[in-house]
Formats: sequence, C-alpha cells, structure tokens
Amino acid sequence: MQKQMENINFYETNYDIIGQWFVRPGEKVVLGDMKNRICRFCGKQSPEVTFRKVAHAIPELLGNKSIESAYECDTCNQGFGSGIENDLGNWSKPMRTLIRIRGKSGVPTLKKGGDKPGWRIEYDQSRLNITAYEDDPIYEVDEENKSVTFKLRRDAYTPVAVLKAFMKIGITLLPDDEVVNFSGLMAWIQNPDHSKPYLNKCPVIYTFQPGPMPNDFIAAFILRRKQTVTGYPYAFFVLGYGNEVFQIPLPSEKHDSQMNGQSISIYPFPVLGHLDALTYGEPKRAVLDLMDCTVHKGERMTVQMGYDSRVPVDISGKS
Ligand SMILES: [Zn+2]
Repeated sequence: MQKQMENINFYETNYDIIGQWFVRPGEKVVLGDMKNRICRFCGKQSPEVTFRKVAHAIPELLGNKSIESAYECDTCNQGFGSGIENDLGNWSKPMRTLIRIRGKSGVPTLKKGGDKPGWRIEYDQSRLNITAYEDDPIYEVDEENKSVTFKLRRDAYTPVAVLKAFMKIGITLLPDDEVVNFSGLMAWIQNPDHSKPYLNKCPVIYTFQPGPMPNDFIAAFILRRKQTVTGYPYAFFVLGYGNEVFQIPLPSEKHDSQMNGQSISIYPFPVLGHLDALTYGEPKRAVLDLMDCTVHKGERMTVQMGYDSRVPVDISGKS
C-alpha cells in the first residue's frame, strides 16, 4: 500500500490526465466530428479519401467495441490493420485467450498449425478447454503449488511494430491540439519499414493484475507532464484490459528533446488490482523492451496460472 501511495503522489505532482475513458460493450463513444472528417494520420479529407469503415480508436481485437474515431480514413485504417495491428494481434494473442478477451469473433482459439491434429486452447461458454498431446506438451502442472505453467507459441511478429501499434492508439486518443507535438512520432509509426530508427529507448511498463478480473472492461488514459515540471517524459498512454495494463511513452520531439541521453526513474501509473489481493496477490510489474526490429518466429511465451482444485473429466475418445 505504501508503494501505491508513492505512485499516486508521483502522478498527482507531475502529470495531468488530459483524457480518460472507461468503457464496456454497449457504450458508444465517437471521437471527433462525424460531419467534418479529416484524417489525423494523412491529413486528407473527402473526396480524396473515404471514411466508410468504422475506425476503432482501440483495436477491436483488444475487446473494444465502444470507442470509434471520426478522423481515420479507410486507407490509413487498412494500412494499420494489415500492418502494425496485425503484429499487436499476434504478439498479444496467447494472453488474450487465457484472460478471455473478446475480439470481433469472440475469444481467440489457440492451436498448433499444420495438417496433423495438435494442441488446442479454446474458450467455450464459460471455460477454457485445453486439448494437448503427450508428445507435444504445452503446459506443466505443479500439483504441490497448484499452478499450471503454459508455454504458448506466438505467431510471427516484429516487436517494434507492436510498440508502434500501441503508440498509434495513444496518438488516436490525443486531444486535437496536442497532435502537432507528435508529428515526428506519427511519421515513424506510419513508416512500414521497421528498420528505420527514431527512438533510442522506449521502455513500456507492464502490469499484470492477478485474479479474476472483468474481461469486457477497458480503461485508457492520456497523461501529460504538468507545465511547471521538467525532467520527466512529456506524455504517456496507459491502456488496461482484462488483467493487463500497459504504460507506453509518447515521445514528443518538441517537448522531450532536453531529456536526450538522460536516465530517469518513473513510478508506474497506479492500478487498482484485484480487491482481494490477499488471495490473488499484488499486481506484478515488468518493463518491456519492444525496440527490436527483426521478425520473431516461433517464440514461446510462458504464463503461470494458479488453480483451486483438479476435477477429473471424462474425455473419452481423446488422448
Ligand atoms: Zn488517412
């Protein structure tokens, strides 16, 4: 709790929340002016570009069915969807299945590729069904500690494209008058050549909140450094869904240049965690480095989950 107070104090002292959203399915939020549509990313308007598709301010695959934006043209929407958002989807998919995040066609099913039948993790009504084979184990059970460790393969992704996809959501959520401060970042995000450098470092603060958390609730914040403050990054975007929270820096060439090469300490944005932290544990934190610009193939991610008890189930006909 002491730590939580320090985190709260840090943000109260140094940052203003200039945008925040708490959404559940069924609540509709449209950002921008539907009658006067100019694309934030390419600067074009009708008839040069069209605005027929619904542009989700947060990708639908992360469970967003509520926040749309009026300022993303079909061309940019298509480019992001088949580019960096595809990397974000592949990278986040194993965890989205385990924490039951519903995309366009429900909670994603994980399965082994190829022709032969293989392991499969599928969400069915209210539970995860796991089919696995002894010669190709995807999880280990620790009976003593009542935990299951999953080792799940991610589809191919490029880390820096995942970072760009997070930043693109942040840029979309920025108030209009802030966009001008991020033109360099925007150009970099839109560049499909991921080997082109723009930032030296960009640590993403990751928080996992253990325990049963709602799988249909999204929280998002845009934080901006107070005008009286120097020595801290200008802006952050914080995104929470299911058990996960990501805090992503949004570097501004105009307002962050004085910090070049400096090393600074940042407190993580405070998260609530599960109210019953005694049972489920305190939020766990890590710093993610998503700067690598090479394609990662066949990477395994490890997740440990606890369980209360094991129940024998009749799975006749299956091994
Ligand atoms: Zn556009």
